[in-house]
Amino acid sequence: MTARDQLAGYVALQRLLTRRAALKRERDTPPEALAALRTQFSERHEKLEAARVRRDALAAEQAALQPEADALREEREHFRKQKSHVTNMKQLSAVVSELDHVETQFKAKEDRLLEILQELESTDAAIATLGEESPEEKALREQAEAAWEQLRQASEGELAALETELRAVQTRLGDKAMERFKKLWVSRKPNAVVPMDGTACSACHGDLRPSLVQLVRTVEELQTCDHCRRLLYDPEQFPPSA
Ligand SMILES: [Zn+2]
Repeated sequence: MTARDQLAGYVALQRLLTRRAALKRERDTPPEALAALRTQFSERHEKLEAARVRRDALAAEQAALQPEADALREEREHFRKQKSHVTNMKQLSAVVSELDHVETQFKAKEDRLLEILQELESTDAAIATLGEESPEEKALREQAEAAWEQLRQASEGELAALETELRAVQTRLGDKAMERFKKLWVSRKPNAVVPMDGTACSACHGDLRPSLVQLVRTVEELQTCDHCRRLLYDPEQFPPSA
């Protein structure tokens, strides 16, 4: 294989690898608009779930507390009646003490029941506000998902074609040339093979000796930049569309 063929292979390989990396990024990164819709959807869903769980807990607490409050109210009535039938001070003070005790307990339960009622109201309001996704919102989100899926599949298709092309270039280059490229690629990617920029290296911007510039143009052998050791090529001889 001539040095020119080898260099052409390297340039092609680097372009394919760069394109492959870009395609993989594209394939793995949903558009921002879709990501925002997904976040919005899941956040609202989570808030709604949390509100429903809270509502159930409040309702359960209310259901347990109400009979207790009712029983205490009856007890209070009982002691109130007793109070009106006492015949001496000793009895009176005993009943009043019982009544105070029941009153305190009853008040605590009533207060808590009122709190529960208020929180139930605000939770119900929150659930109503959050609501489920409207049909318009759902359609919008599903459209965005479908469009993204199409893009993703297009990227997958292009990636598959690109892999085939990569293998073809690798086969054309052969093992020995591939070894050299891999070494260079590991330390210099994504710019292992770089075009000259006039009479300078486009990667490190170091000036190139006139004789080196000449050697790069003739492509009788592969030439590397004196400063950064990257392989150099003449962009006019290897244009991007080639
Ligand atoms: Zn350089």
